[in-house]
Amino acid sequence: MLAVLALLFLAVLLSPSENIYPELNPDPWGNETITVHIDDRNVPAHYSPSYRVQVEKALDYWSEGGNGKLGYTPEFRIVDVNDADILIMWVENLEAEAGVESGVAGFARPYEVNGRYEHVDIVLETGNYAGYSWRQYGDSNMQEIAKHEIGHALGLGHSNNRKDIMYPTYDRMDDIDPLLVQRTLPLIILGALLGAGIVFYHGGGWLHSRKKRERLEKEIFGEKEK
Ligand SMILES: [Zn+2]
Repeated sequence: MLAVLALLFLAVLLSPSENIYPELNPDPWGNETITVHIDDRNVPAHYSPSYRVQVEKALDYWSEGGNGKLGYTPEFRIVDVNDADILIMWVENLEAEAGVESGVAGFARPYEVNGRYEHVDIVLETGNYAGYSWRQYGDSNMQEIAKHEIGHALGLGHSNNRKDIMYPTYDRMDDIDPLLVQRTLPLIILGALLGAGIVFYHGGGWLHSRKKRERLEKEIFGEKEK
């Protein structure tokens, strides 16, 4: 066990994945608690309430150490005011609404004054177009995008390590549409109830046929046989 641990430790030490990437700002917030406003009121049509939860998880990720590349431990406080340090908002589609290049799922725009971030706007999109068809982002996808953009808001640049959260492109984690799940949930429940009804019906059918079989057996084998 100890040998395995030692080997693992050595593998971590020797791994070439330890890439250095530019920090946009090594200490953008000083030692202060960073206030975050998550705007889940002015949201586009395809916003899912589960996205806010993903942003909160992404904030936890960074305050619990993140990818280990921050020289400080950020402390966040979610507030309900518009002049928070970090403002997180959603648009339907960045390509269509902000004119950004295709493939960009979010961006962070820091306003730097005298070496400190005064304010950072993070804009996330709810999905993109694959040809003409709309593809809604799944929750874990949203969480990855949020982690990446918050990483920028904390002063990190891009990593050249594919496995790092600060790598410029993300891998689509899932394609489960959270809006579809919410909309179809009543249908799923109805389906489960109907399913139970079918089981019940079949149960009744089985009871009925057992009685029929008993009657047949009586006819063939007589009263004594069962
Ligand atoms: Zn980026």
